[in-house]
Amino acid sequence: STSPDPQDFLGLDAALDEDERAIRDAVRDYGRDQLHDHVADWYESGALPARELAKGFGALGLLGMHLTGYGCAGTSAVAYGVACRELEAVDSGLRSFVSVQGSLAMFALHRWGSEEQRAEWLPRMASGDALGCFGLTEPDAGSDPGSMRTRAVRDGSDWVLTGTKMWITNGTVADVAVVWAQTDEGIRGFVVPTSTPGFTANEVKHKLSLRASLTAELVLDGVRLPESAAFPEVRGLRGPLSCLNEARYGILFGVVGAARACYRAALDYTLSREQFGKPLAGFQLTQRKLADLLVEVNRAGLVALQIGRLKDAGTLHPSQVSFGKMANVRSALEVARTARTMLGANGISLEYPVMRHMANLETVLTYEGTEEMHALSLGQAVTGIPAFR
Ligand code: FAD
Repeated sequence: STSPDPQDFLGLDAALDEDERAIRDAVRDYGRDQLHDHVADWYESGALPARELAKGFGALGLLGMHLTGYGCAGTSAVAYGVACRELEAVDSGLRSFVSVQGSLAMFALHRWGSEEQRAEWLPRMASGDALGCFGLTEPDAGSDPGSMRTRAVRDGSDWVLTGTKMWITNGTVADVAVVWAQTDEGIRGFVVPTSTPGFTANEVKHKLSLRASLTAELVLDGVRLPESAAFPEVRGLRGPLSCLNEARYGILFGVVGAARACYRAALDYTLSREQFGKPLAGFQLTQRKLADLLVEVNRAGLVALQIGRLKDAGTLHPSQVSFGKMANVRSALEVARTARTMLGANGISLEYPVMRHMANLETVLTYEGTEEMHALSLGQAVTGIPAFR
């Protein structure tokens, strides 16, 4: 019998249902036909045809796909995870595009928005006609978002927002920003049309990672909004953290795609390139790497699938998301770094996907809760002792 597929060595995809497999194939085909040939250029130029991508992803049904109603597909969590995996096999920046739209901006509106806010934004966001971003991080508030300085104060029946958000994905192209701000009642979320006077978005330049993704500083200089712009009910960090939990789920599945792509590249390369009269893949040291990476790639896939099943069963605990985010990003980064060595000088070139993935994964390690924050979450989960401060 033939040996198992290196990308799915444990045969996990056989456990996917028909819908999940159909989504996998549709996203894989779209990546191959529409994204693959452009991604290196987008990465190098740091530019992205955001509107066009949004329409394409919207037509595929990827935007807010695991949400129900308002034009969203209402798929299983596993289907959403598999879509992230196939997209991130192309580039983490493209998966980030879909994560920010679906899991951060749309999820926030879906979970915490008023009926009016949902009806106004969600259908257009699902189709890709409107783009959203999610403003939590600030120049002086990253891992500790509770220390944010952006403030919303009441003026009559209006709200007036002042502050700066930093590292906001899709901020320069968004039509709407979900912005979290301090108020007298605790942290609250606001739905900010980016055309509102006083709102500006400045591109973050000089990134060496996640270059096929647009990143912005948001400046809110006395942005005046009606009462109806606030999320009605939620107060405190519970609001933004509920959204991050969703996005982290997409990440722990997505990075399996990046790891697979690096593995595939290393395997193909070492099978075809010869040194000392034989293929690189024939050397014991290379086979050690191929075996180690095979284990990392496929173990990460197993972790992702199990966490997806827990999510679909409705029993997933946030600490299990921390487990998956920490374990799988670490695995993917290790795979990317080792694969990089296996391609020799070609490993540093954008002609091959490996160093692009490797550099991207440095962002993925840091955003949506740094590796250290997830270690502290796990530490708290097993000891009951919070060690964050
Ligand atoms: P810091 O919090 O300053 O941390 C620096 C280092 O100190 C880290 O290693 C951290 O783990 C460590 N550290 C901090 N506190 C502790 C502690 N108590 N114990 C031990 N170690 C600690 N944010 C958004 O809101 N929206 C977005 O769309 C978004 N997109 C992003 C896109 C990119 C490309 C990047 C790079 C970031 C993005 N972010 C976004 C921001 C991201 O979530 C933050 O960078 C992240 O939360 C970490 O914050 P920080 O960079 O301020 O690092």
